Amino acid sequence: MSAPRPSDDFGGRLSFDRSVPGRAAADVPDWDGPPTPLPEARLLRETLRLPELSQGELVRYYTELSARNYGIDSGTYPLGSCTMKYNPKVNDLVASLPGLAQAHPQAPPEEVQGTLRTLAELAGGLAEITGLGAVSLAPAAGAQGELAGVLMITRALEDRGELAARRRVLVPDSAHGTNPATAAMAGYTVTQIPTAADGSMDRAVIESELDASVAAVMVTVPNTLGLWERGIEEVAERIHDAGAYLYGDGANLNAIMGRARYGDLGFDVVHLNLHKSFSTPHGGGGPGAGPVCCSEELAPYLPTPVVTEGGDGVVRLTAPEHSIGRMQQFGGNVGVLIRAYAYMRALGLEGLRATSGQAVLNANYLRVLMEGHYDLPYDRPVLHEVVFSGSRQRRQNGVRTYDIAKRLIDHGFHPPTVYFPLIVEEALMMEPTETEPPEAIEALAEAMIAIAAEAEEDPDKLHGAPLTAPIGRLDETTAARRPVLRWQPEAPAG
Ligand SMILES: *Cc1c(COP(=O)(O)O)cnc(C)c1O
Repeated sequence: MSAPRPSDDFGGRLSFDRSVPGRAAADVPDWDGPPTPLPEARLLRETLRLPELSQGELVRYYTELSARNYGIDSGTYPLGSCTMKYNPKVNDLVASLPGLAQAHPQAPPEEVQGTLRTLAELAGGLAEITGLGAVSLAPAAGAQGELAGVLMITRALEDRGELAARRRVLVPDSAHGTNPATAAMAGYTVTQIPTAADGSMDRAVIESELDASVAAVMVTVPNTLGLWERGIEEVAERIHDAGAYLYGDGANLNAIMGRARYGDLGFDVVHLNLHKSFSTPHGGGGPGAGPVCCSEELAPYLPTPVVTEGGDGVVRLTAPEHSIGRMQQFGGNVGVLIRAYAYMRALGLEGLRATSGQAVLNANYLRVLMEGHYDLPYDRPVLHEVVFSGSRQRRQNGVRTYDIAKRLIDHGFHPPTVYFPLIVEEALMMEPTETEPPEAIEALAEAMIAIAAEAEEDPDKLHGAPLTAPIGRLDETTAARRPVLRWQPEAPAG
């Protein structure tokens, strides 16, 4: 046993439990000026239960807690689909420049031309990268970009007089859960398209489903198996022949930026996740930005605002003619947009192309290193991520993917995404991203291989993992059914 660390009592000793009456983190001298009247008594509380700690104790407490966080700045973070890459700190610096960070969202456009022009150039860059000329930066996340795109299609169908007839959206079964959820939220019936043995959509099924009742097909390129959607150009043609629109989930742009463009492939509208592909630290739910890029046909329906340069040379936030309306207040998550702009300008087109090349190389390096130790249900070269399966370990050793993921914490890594995509049994979805050096990918593969060996030799050890983390395996059922969300003082005795 190693010496107990100060953190070993976590859970039993929150700041409240460490409290010693009379200690204070700050000394405020008595006020000898005129008294300030208090608000009415009914607005005042009788007591305020706060922990009493010295400043040193308080700082150590929070420092200790902060060191328990595992982020991309601490190590490799192979959380597939999330593109957890290292983001250059300079982009944070640029986004926090006072002229940009302090621009008031309701300032007259003439007074914030720096910010607005930056946003206009970002929109121009995204149009070039996607091959879709019209852009709104408004949506705050990928899922919101999807909703914007599907509502734009809805409005276009309404103008064509076909909305009543076209009530279905086709979605492959490998899709991110947000795709069918978006279509359902927009009022459509979702028809699932199965994945063929090669990991692309089943062409025969999609062609047989395409008829005058289909509003749109939502396709993720590259898909969530990390694979290129084979024949997507022909599928796009069939979709358009059937009078439907092709929606693109572009959250995985990281794998193809600078190499393939959604517009050239036949997509009508696509959303991007700037917080994945274009440098924003993310996790824990935001903030993000999910711009939508679309064809000329759908441009009049874009969410408000779009950034437009007027004939007078002034850049303004404007409302497209038949806009679906606002997705959120003001101009979007401007800090995230500015980080994306800084990243894009620093790299340039050549740099973005090199980024996607490196992301693909890294995912394939991991695939080759781990192959043979875990099942690979769709065994072909991948793009940005690789999806293994723990079904061999489950069948032979009674070890589940969940155990493997938890054990990876003991080996010093953040776990991969598990049980997604749904079509892969015991899925282990791993995305090293372009920012990991070869040694890090080798170390990750070694840890995964060591865990596969442990699964054979000592499966019980894996059932209890993590064994070295400050908090071990949680009882997730109890945590969900009877969550303890607030510290409560122990009931006084008697
Ligand atoms: C992350 C992701 C989304 C959702 O994006 P959010 O910003 O989390 O709403 C949608 N589709 C795919 C393929 C993704 O990877």
